[in-house]
Amino acid sequence: MTCIFCKIANKEIPSSFLYESEKVLAFNDLTPQAPVHVLVIPKAHCENAGELAQADPLALAELFTAAMQIAADRGLDGYRTAFNTGASAGQSVFHAHLHLLGGRPFAWPPG
Ligand code: AMP
Repeated sequence: MTCIFCKIANKEIPSSFLYESEKVLAFNDLTPQAPVHVLVIPKAHCENAGELAQADPLALAELFTAAMQIAADRGLDGYRTAFNTGASAGQSVFHAHLHLLGGRPFAWPPG
């Protein structure tokens, strides 16, 4: 198995989890782009958010409720969530993951 996030989900790579349930887990991004930058992923492999919506809509919904809980735990009064889908949109890990970013102002539209 070569998927890095599957390895994290299978605990083949040590990682400290900020949230864990039967379907979902969350951990800090290796290269944070904000004071809070957390990745929330489904444990089961799925290439992107759209595929996850088709395969397991409850897991997709839980990515957002986990992000909401983590944001509250970190005292964020606002935060950004993002999914990159496809290399042209900046996706570099092809296992669905929600970026939770917070702790600084964000411009709109994003770059
Ligand atoms: P994306 O470019 O949307 O596919 O996001 C992938 C994210 O995964 C990037 O922000 C990377 O910094 C992050 N990342 C890659 N490998 C790891 C890892 N082993 N642990 C935590 N975050 C990682």
